[in-house]
Order: sequence, then C-alpha cells, then structure tokens
Amino acid sequence: MGFIEIDGLKYFQFESLLKQPIVQAVFTRHGGVSPEPHNSLNLGGNIGDTDENIIENKRRIFASLSIPFESQFDVWQVHGTNVIIPEAPRKPLQPYDQADAILTDSPNLTLVMRFADCVPIILYEPQKHIAGIVHAGWQGTVNDTVGAAVKKMVANYGVKENNILAAIGPSIGPDHYSVRDDVLEPIKKRFGNTWQEMIQFKEEVAFLNLWKANEINLHQSGVKKIEISAICTACHTSDWYSHRAEHGKTGRFGALIKLAG
Ligand SMILES: [Zn+2]
Repeated sequence: MGFIEIDGLKYFQFESLLKQPIVQAVFTRHGGVSPEPHNSLNLGGNIGDTDENIIENKRRIFASLSIPFESQFDVWQVHGTNVIIPEAPRKPLQPYDQADAILTDSPNLTLVMRFADCVPIILYEPQKHIAGIVHAGWQGTVNDTVGAAVKKMVANYGVKENNILAAIGPSIGPDHYSVRDDVLEPIKKRFGNTWQEMIQFKEEVAFLNLWKANEINLHQSGVKKIEISAICTACHTSDWYSHRAEHGKTGRFGALIKLAG
C-alpha cells in the first residue's frame, strides 16, 4: 500500500495527494550507497557518513523521480519553529539555513527534509499551488512548528486554512515512543485538556502519540484535511531509519515535495 519501487529505491506516497499536480515521496532506506550503520540511502550529514555518499544518494533519489537534482532545497533542521521561503535552490556545498519548515510557490524548487523518528508533514494548497514540508520531533510538536508553517502559508500566499491538504508521514509510533517527564510536562502544558488524547500509560510508562499531537496542532490551525500514514519507523527498521530503535546508530531518510509546472 502506497509503496513504489524503482532501481532498488523504494518510496512511500500519500494516497490523498496522488491526484495533485505535485511530486511527493518519503524514501525508505533502500537503494543507496552508504555502508552500515547508515545503510543505505542516508541523507544525514554530521553523523559519520561521507558527503560523497550523501550526494550520490540524493542524486539517485532525484533520478528515480525524474526531477533535476539542481532543484533541491534543504535546511539544517534544529527542532525550532523557523519557517523559510527560499529564493533559489541550495547548491550541494552551499551552507544551510536553519529551519524546520520550508514553503514555496515555485516549481523550480524541490523541498527536502531528513528524518529518523521525527514527524514529516507535507503541506499542499491546491488553489494557489503552494507546497510545504515540516519537521516535528517532540519539541517541534510542543512548539507547534506545523502551525507556524500554516500561519506563514496564509500570511504570505493568502491561502485558506481549510483548503490545505496535510499528510503526516512515517515516524515513531505511539507503541514505541515512551517518554519521561522532561517531555511529558511540556506536552501537558501545551495541549491542556487534550493531552490525554496523545498520551497512553502502560505500567506507569507514558507513551506519546506524535501523529495525534500534530493532527491536533493542524486542527487548531484550521487544517481539516489530514492523512496519517500510521507507519512506525521503530517497528520497521528494515525499511526506515529509527533513532530510538537503533540507539542513535543509523541514518536519515528523505521526504520531499515539488510543485509541477
Ligand atoms: Zn512501533
């Protein structure tokens, strides 16, 4: 369901976005050149893999979708709420901007982000043809990074919140994401009465449902059309990188969106 395989690469696409004039994909770890523990389609820098491997992996990703590598725009993800609207693609060795959400109205840009348990959220507004991508771990969830992206989409492009399509991708699921008070307390503070919708206790251990929490963030921002892939990265480390399940010795998989045009 939702998976496509090409030249050894395997990616997931959101059902609800298939008919839209966009390219969207969340790539599994298959089909790249990186050795263990980053095997094999790793996009993460600064975690022990080489720049050469990462660039080759990216090149394969873009080739598999028949979109130009030169269109890539990615950021240094810092668990913040900065939303960036880039002017131009990022060249492979050009320094990164720090941000956790990217928006564009340009078909000349492919917005790319990297994940290993944190939540990828793809945004698309069909009337004005606007694309976005968001990275939300627990901090980005508490600080409502996706809400910041929606607000900027509305302010900058004049879109209506209820026209936005949102899709929550593969990330650590509620079955695997046990958290302690350092996470639980900020979640309770942020979500008030609704915190019980995203926290389940099993033998006094709290498990956080980041999918539900980001769905609530989206609802509170006025976004109603939401697909949740409900794929847990920690359950399926043969397909996905999971920072938690692989004890930090892993890579980062790529998610991307590009407007057709
Ligand atoms: Zn799981």
